[in-house]
Amino acid sequence: MDLVLTGATVVTSLDPPAVRSGDVVIRDGRVAEIGGDPPTGAERLERPGCVVVPGNVCAHHHLYSTLARGMPYRLEPPATFVEILQRVWWRLDRALDEDSVRLSAWSGGADALLAGTTTIVDHHASPATIEGSLDLIAEALGQLGVRSVLCYEVTDRDGPERATAGIEESRRFLKGGFPLAFGMVGAHASFTLSEETLERCVELARDADAGIHIHVAEDAADERDAMVRFDRRVGERLAEAGALGPRSLLAHCVHVDGPEAELIRDSGAWVAHNPRSNMNNRVGRAPVGDLGVKVALGTDGIDGDMFAESRTAFWRAREADPAIGPPWILERMAASARFAGAVFEEPLLGTLAPGAPADLMVLEYDPPTPLTARNLAGHWAFGLSARHVRDVVVDGDVVVRDRRLVRSSEPEVRPRCREAAEALWRRMDDLEAHPFEPQRGA
Ligand SMILES: [Zn+2]
Repeated sequence: MDLVLTGATVVTSLDPPAVRSGDVVIRDGRVAEIGGDPPTGAERLERPGCVVVPGNVCAHHHLYSTLARGMPYRLEPPATFVEILQRVWWRLDRALDEDSVRLSAWSGGADALLAGTTTIVDHHASPATIEGSLDLIAEALGQLGVRSVLCYEVTDRDGPERATAGIEESRRFLKGGFPLAFGMVGAHASFTLSEETLERCVELARDADAGIHIHVAEDAADERDAMVRFDRRVGERLAEAGALGPRSLLAHCVHVDGPEAELIRDSGAWVAHNPRSNMNNRVGRAPVGDLGVKVALGTDGIDGDMFAESRTAFWRAREADPAIGPPWILERMAASARFAGAVFEEPLLGTLAPGAPADLMVLEYDPPTPLTARNLAGHWAFGLSARHVRDVVVDGDVVVRDRRLVRSSEPEVRPRCREAAEALWRRMDDLEAHPFEPQRGA
């Protein structure tokens, strides 16, 4: 049956901004038309005074970190980025079992969807349970109704068997089977990848016709390691290995220098910029202005709230460069959606043009000033937030209605998540800091 959203103002595009009024007709998972007479017999969602906006895309997430929120910590506090990995995330990932993978994905997916995020691009690691882990995530997200791009994080830090298992999990998942969850080849970062493992990732991406999703120069330690081991910077190493291309997704790029930024731009690769995570880990400021137009935004596991991430991204960027104004946020959000659209071969994803996938949210936003295409960016920077999200539609299905999940019950599943979190923390408590070290040189 057709679905019609009536009475709302409709943002049909973020970049360039376009705003109009008219009922939105959704048919077979797509925007059929805006304005005109609604078809008879359609299901109506009456939303007078609301604003309909294309769904947000989180271009870099770690759903497996969801159950880490508020966890106890007993080791010496980490002082550096590498220590944060050794003492926190590389203990957490090894403590994950099937149940906690599934419930992390559900929990993080629910948070994202309720905040208006309709596509999650995830980077997953669970070294104790690799095979089938991407299916657990795809099933949990499918149960909620959120679209996703998933990958398993291939790395040599847990030994050669697990590196191979990561590649095999990617190969298996890339064969498909989930209409709303597509795959990429995940790789951790240059400093935990041998030449051979990186080569195998590139080969798999080529064979499976998929992109590579990898952390790049998040911390200076990654660049130092590449110089010591290969006498090259990370960007040069990845370019020579064939890992940079128009479908690659490079998370962070905080420490890339001018020539590396040029390599990245020339390759057509996407960059996922995660400003809140960068601040939290104190790794530095990404040179976002040098990385071209394919800079998308991600949360790096902090949460699924792209309103919060995009506003922080704006202030962080503007603090460094007064030429950056509010339209920059809309360009980044549109780039994030274009990335997802490229993976799903849906070039209209992230717009509400006729024929676009019906991924959108209804905002209960009664602005103090008129909302127009000219000032949409100002409303985004200084007004809009996840608290305005009332309904969410993905692939034409209403998956959040009146601020509640439609297909899943929070009161039923959240308590199970909290139980799984406590069990996960207990298993984690038995693990010491991970011994893996990047090369530092003399
Ligand atoms: Zn990350």
